[in-house]
Amino acid sequence: MRFSQLALQTLREAPANARSAGFAFLVRAGYLSRDKEVLFLGQQAIARMQALADQPNFYKQLSLPVLRGDGRVFFLHEKGGQEVIHCPSCRTASRRETAVFAKTAFSQEVPLPLETVHTPDCNTIEALAALLNIPKQKTAKALMFTRLSDGKFIFVVLRGDHTLSEEKLHAVVGGFRLASPEEIQAAGAAAGYASPINLADPLIVVDDLIPNSPNLVAGANQKDYHLLNTNCGRDYPPGIVADLTLAGPGDPCVVCGSALAKLAADILVTNGQVDFLQTLLAVAEMHHDDKGLKMPFPAAPFDVQLVALPGREMDTLAAAAELTDRLEQAGFSVLFDDRDERAGVKFNDADLLGCPLRLTVGERGLREGMVEFKRRTEADGRNIPLADAVDFLKIT
Ligand SMILES: [Zn+2]
Repeated sequence: MRFSQLALQTLREAPANARSAGFAFLVRAGYLSRDKEVLFLGQQAIARMQALADQPNFYKQLSLPVLRGDGRVFFLHEKGGQEVIHCPSCRTASRRETAVFAKTAFSQEVPLPLETVHTPDCNTIEALAALLNIPKQKTAKALMFTRLSDGKFIFVVLRGDHTLSEEKLHAVVGGFRLASPEEIQAAGAAAGYASPINLADPLIVVDDLIPNSPNLVAGANQKDYHLLNTNCGRDYPPGIVADLTLAGPGDPCVVCGSALAKLAADILVTNGQVDFLQTLLAVAEMHHDDKGLKMPFPAAPFDVQLVALPGREMDTLAAAAELTDRLEQAGFSVLFDDRDERAGVKFNDADLLGCPLRLTVGERGLREGMVEFKRRTEADGRNIPLADAVDFLKIT
C-alpha cells in the first residue's frame, strides 16, 4: 500500500495525555487517536493479531511476558491500571480483589470470659490497640452495610489488621452499600464501637480466619466501651463464613508460602476474550525505543516499510513501486513510502511506525543494482542486490 494514499498522519510531539510511552508512540505513529480510537495502522495490527490469537503461544509470538491466573492474562508494567497479587515462585497472578493468601491464626488461646472495658476516644483500630497495648491482630474490625436487594443489615467481621475485599463480600451477599447512621442505630450497634453481639437480626458475615481467632477485642455497641475476649460462635453466630480479606504484599502464597508481591498490570484476556486494544498497548509498551515502535511481525501493520528516496537522474520511485509489487506478490505486506519528502523525514517515520523491516531504494544504490535492508531492531542496514531482494526477505 502507498503511504500517500493512506492519509497517514504522524506527530512529532507526544500527546499530553500519554499515560505510558507505548501509548504515546501509538498515537504519534497514527495507530490510535488521542482518545484511543483505533486508526488504520492500529486496525491492521489488530487484524494481524486476531489471526493468531487462538494459538497457545500467542503472547510468546508477540514477545510479551505475561502472567496467568484468575481466568485472566496479565501484562505487568508500572503504569498498569490494575492491582495484581503475584507469587514470584509460582509465577501466578490474580487481581488483588480476588487474590487469596495463606492465613494463619495469631494465637491458640482458650476462650476467656467477656469483659467490658472503658475505651474513651478509641473509635479506630489503631487507637484501640495503642490504648490496650495489644497488636491489631487481637482486635476485630467491624464493617456495616445494607444489602440492596432486601435492605438486610449486614455486619462484617475481619481481623483488625486486615482489609475488606468488597468484591469477595459481593460474591457472598450480592450488592450492598454502606449502612446509614440511622440503620446502624436501628440495629442496635454503635459506629466506632460496634460488634455483632446482641444486634437485632443482622446477617453476620465473618472472614474465615475469625472462627480461629479467639479472644478478640470488639466494640460493646456503646460509645467509649469495648469488649475483651469476644469469640465467634460462642458470643455470636456467624451467618456466613467466607474469605473476605484483601491480599497484600508480604502475605504468604497459599501454594508455596512465598511472600506475595503487589504489582501493577493491565488485563489482556478475561475468560478467553482477548482485549486486542490492550494487547496492542502492551506490545507498544514492551517494544519501543526512543525513536518509536519496534513491532514484532505478528503485531506489525506491515512487514516492510519500503522507502523511496527521490533521485536526480534515475526514476527511484518506479523501481521502488516495482519492488513493492514483487514483494506483495510474494506474500509480504508492504507500506510503500512514496511521499515527496526528505530522506530524514521518511526514516524518522519508519522508525516511529516500527515495521520490522525497512528497504530503501535510492539512486546511489540503484546504480549498483542494490537496495538497503535494515531491521528495525538493528542499528545499521546493509546493501543487498535488488534482484534478490524478495528471496532475501523470504529467508529473513
Ligand atoms: Zn507460590
